[in-house]
This record gives sequence, C-alpha cells and structure tokens, in this order.
Amino acid sequence: MNTPLIYDLDLPYLTAQLKMWGEPAYRAKQIWQGLYQNLYASPEQFTSLPKSLREQMAKYLTFSPFEVRTYLDSSDGSTRKTLFELPDGNLIEAVLMRYGDPADNPQITASAANSIGRGAKNRRTLCISTQAGCAMGCVFCATGQMGFQRNLTSGEIVAQVMYYAQILKEKDEAVTNIVFMGMGEPFHNYDNTLAAVDRLNDADGYNFGARRFTISTVGLVPQIRRFADEQRQVNLAISLHAADDKERLAIMPVNKRYKIDEVIEACKYYVEKTHRRVTFEWALINGVNDTPEVARSLAARLRGLLCHVNAIPLNPTAGYTGQATDRERARLFKETLEDAGIPCTIRMRRGIDIQAGCGQLAGSVMDSNE
Ligand code: SAH
Ligand code: SF4
Repeated sequence: MNTPLIYDLDLPYLTAQLKMWGEPAYRAKQIWQGLYQNLYASPEQFTSLPKSLREQMAKYLTFSPFEVRTYLDSSDGSTRKTLFELPDGNLIEAVLMRYGDPADNPQITASAANSIGRGAKNRRTLCISTQAGCAMGCVFCATGQMGFQRNLTSGEIVAQVMYYAQILKEKDEAVTNIVFMGMGEPFHNYDNTLAAVDRLNDADGYNFGARRFTISTVGLVPQIRRFADEQRQVNLAISLHAADDKERLAIMPVNKRYKIDEVIEACKYYVEKTHRRVTFEWALINGVNDTPEVARSLAARLRGLLCHVNAIPLNPTAGYTGQATDRERARLFKETLEDAGIPCTIRMRRGIDIQAGCGQLAGSVMDSNE
C-alpha cells in the first residue's frame, strides 16, 4: 500500500499524525520547517529529530511522489525540463526558466528571492503541472492532444516545486516565480491547485509570496468568478488565442461551453473584485490569429478592461499543422494592438530545442513508447 505523501499533508494534519505516534506538537512544526525552509528531501536529513522518529517517517510517509524519467537542458543552458513518472505510470512535466545573464547578475539567494518582483531581470521561473494530461482538447496543445488522465493531488503539485527548490538551493539560488502553465487545466482541478498555493504560501513554511504565482486558465467562467470572490493576490492569465467565437471554437473546444463575451465579463468581475490586471495569452499562429484585423478586433473586445496581452509564437506540435508567426508579423500584431490601446508583450519561445512547450516532452516519450 502507498504511504501518504508528506507534501499532501497540511500542518494541522501532520500535527494530528504526530500525536497519534505519541510525539509532541512541536515536532510537527520542526518537520514542517525542515521540509519547507531547509528543503530536506528525505527523513535522514532531519538530524535534529530523534532517530526513532526519522525511522517512523521513513516507514509511514512518502517523500518523493515520482521518479525523474528524464530531463533536458536547452542548448543555451537557460531552461531545464524534467519529466516525472508517477507511481501509476502517468507522466508530468515541470520546466525551470532562468532569465537574466548569470554572468552579469548576482545569484538569487533564497532570502533575496522574496523581494524580487515581477519583471525583475534575474528570475527563476518554474512552470508546473496540475493534471496528468488535460480534458480541454485545445488542438494546438501537446497536452490537449494526449487527453486527460487524472488530477494531481496538492502534494504532487507542491512536490514539483520542492524538487527544483532543492536543486537550486545547492547553487544558493531559489525559485522566484511559479506559473501554472505546465500540463493540465488548473481550474479543472481547482481545490488541489489552490491548496498547493496555500501550502507553498504558508509563512511558517516555504513562504512563497502570493503575487509571485500566476494561474493560467483556458477560461472556465464559474471558476474565474470563484477565484475573484476569494480576492487572492495570485496573478490570473486567460488563454484566449482568438477574438471571434467561431475561430476560437475551431481551436479550443471549451468555447462551446463559455463564449468569449462570458469570459471577458468574468474577467471584468475579477478586476472589480481584486483591482488586479488580467493577462491574456495568445499563441501566434501564422495566418490564423496574427493579422492586424484580428489584433483590432481583439482590442475592441478588451477595451476598458485592466489587462495586457502576452503573445508568444506557437510552438509547433505533432498533432497540429499550424506554424509559428515570424518576428515581423508578431511585431505588427503588437503594434496594432498597442495603437488601439492594449498593451502587448511578445515573448520569446524558450527551450524550443528541448520541447519545453506545454506537454511536448511527455508527448514525445509516449510516442516513442508506442
Ligand atoms: N491549461 C492552462 C494552462 C496550461 S497551458 C491554459 O490553457 O491556460 C499554458 C499556456 O500554453 C496556455 O496559454 C496555452 O494556451 C499555451 N500553449 C499550449 N500549447 C501551446 C503551443 N503549442 N504553443 C504556444 N502556446 C501553447
Ligand atoms: Fe489543456 Fe491548457 Fe493545453 Fe488547452 S492549452 S489543452 S487547457 S493544457
């Protein structure tokens, strides 16, 4: 039988567990700090605990929920993608992106990481998964092409962060931003995703600031409204990719359920509730959604909303014939949007040589297994 994953436990639960073992409550706090402040990866590292307790932990708790199936570093060394295998055989991915030239910039230490804001030069951004596969079926997405396997538990989400945090710590570095843009739809696994945010945010634990998280959603309207009501400081990004319902439906089946207007209304509600800016994500697909006409109609829909557009040339995938927009067309798209009053950033594609696009590595491993 599988023993519980330690990252699935919150502090009250851990305290109750320790009590059952006849241990005082302060031991739970010690374990919590060992896990999330010292970033211990196994029971042996908890040297301030009695040996008998460490043995108990080793016997009755799981410390790593997955095995590293493979990892790839991009040729410029800026991006690492890790493919994890869960005990049930499912594969999930997490990608670390380094921004800023390490030669020019001091390293990000754990203590400095907390004071680093968005847009800072020297970032360590971690992109993590919330599900194995995805049920949303966006045609351009490698994860969507795989279909849905299952939700990840909150602990399996947290464990991806801890895995990289432990590696970075060896270099005296730390994660500065966490984005839920790996495999899966975070709002289709709402409770576990937000439980993971809470666990990582805990001031007595990993203490990762709410404003340094970004949740990216395909646009599930009830969940966007629920998220707005919770008035969290976490950033929200919406994958829009089209400014017309028919065109969106052709690439994103979710548009059958929630039309663009409904998504934008929910975003307005979010801005009213939180006074935070919404990001719209836009994969630039050559000749499909990258023309000046599309940019103008997008601007018309977004007018008056506190937002900006994050456009990124499409990462080509095996199951979709669309191609990436070139630099010149991307520049024109951005200029057209900005002339119409909507701020836009064109992002570089990172780690293209290591298939760092959403779901691409797991997809290629599965293909080669067939
Ligand atoms: N399910 C969530 C989060 C994971 S996908 C969502 O869809 O928002 C993270 C981002 O990658 C989304 O904006 C998604 O649309 C985008 N994406 C997926 N496949 C892509 C591809 N092949 N090229 C560029 N962006 C892609
Ligand atoms: Fe799922 Fe997001 Fe991929 Fe769409 S883009 S299939 S929602 S992971």
